[in-house]
Amino acid sequence: MILRETSGIKFYEFPGLNRYPSVFHGFFTRHGGFSKPPYHTLNVAFKVGDNPADVAKNVKKIRKMLQGRLIWVNQDHGCKIIIIDKHYLETCNQNIPPEADAIITSEPGVALMIKVADCQAIFLFDRVKNVIANIHCGWRGNVNEIIKKTVDTMKKTFKSDPRDVIATISPSLGPCCGEFKGYRELLPAHFHGYRVGVNHFDFWKISREQLIKAGISEKNIEIAGMCTVCGNNHFFSYRKEKITGRCAAVIMLKEKE
Ligand SMILES: [Zn+2]
Repeated sequence: MILRETSGIKFYEFPGLNRYPSVFHGFFTRHGGFSKPPYHTLNVAFKVGDNPADVAKNVKKIRKMLQGRLIWVNQDHGCKIIIIDKHYLETCNQNIPPEADAIITSEPGVALMIKVADCQAIFLFDRVKNVIANIHCGWRGNVNEIIKKTVDTMKKTFKSDPRDVIATISPSLGPCCGEFKGYRELLPAHFHGYRVGVNHFDFWKISREQLIKAGISEKNIEIAGMCTVCGNNHFFSYRKEKITGRCAAVIMLKEKE
C-alpha cells in the first residue's frame, strides 16, 4: 500500500489501482480530522455518537481535497445497491441519505464514500466501461453475497464484463482477529473451510473467492492485507474500541480535463 498525506490527512492507495490515472481512490486513516476521543480524529460517520459539527468538518475536509461531489449512504448490512446517476444527483438530499450497502456510478467527479471500522470496503473499477462501485462488506455482506449482487448490477446496467474489472479489498478485520465464536450458527457451511484458528476466519480470502466467483480475474484483485484491529492506532476498529469512528473509503472517476 502507498501512504499519502495531504493537509494532515493520511490515506492509503492500492498500487495496482493507482496505475489508472482516470481514477482517484483512497482508504483514509483516522488522522487529520477534528473529532475528539473516542472518535479522534477523521470520523466520517454521523450516527455513531460523535459531535455532528466535527463530522461535518471532517467530511468537508475530504471533499475539499477531492474537489468532487461526495456521496454516501446509510449502511445497514443489507443488500441494497444504488446507482448514482444524473437523476439521483439532481434529486438526492445528502442530509437524509437512503439505506444501501453498495453504490455504483459512471459519472465523473462523483466520489463514492463507504464508512468502515473493521468491515471491508471493496472498490470495483471497470476500466473499459469506466464504471466504479464501492461496497460495504462486513461478514453479513459476505453471507448475503453483496459482492456478486453488485457485479451483477454492473453487468446489467452498464454491460460490464467482470474480466475488465479491477477489485480491491480495504484494510479490515484480519484473520488474526476475526474470531467468530458462534460461527456454526452465523456462517454458512461453505465458509467453514476459511477457518484459520479455533474460531478465527479469513474474510479476506472469503471476499477474494466471492470476487472470483463473480467473474473477476484473480490477477485483478488486490488485498490491502492490513488488519484494522491490530492497526487501530491508524484505523478505527469497532472490535477493539466499540465506541469509535468510521474511516472513509473513497473512489471517484476524475473529470476529463
Ligand atoms: Zn489483527
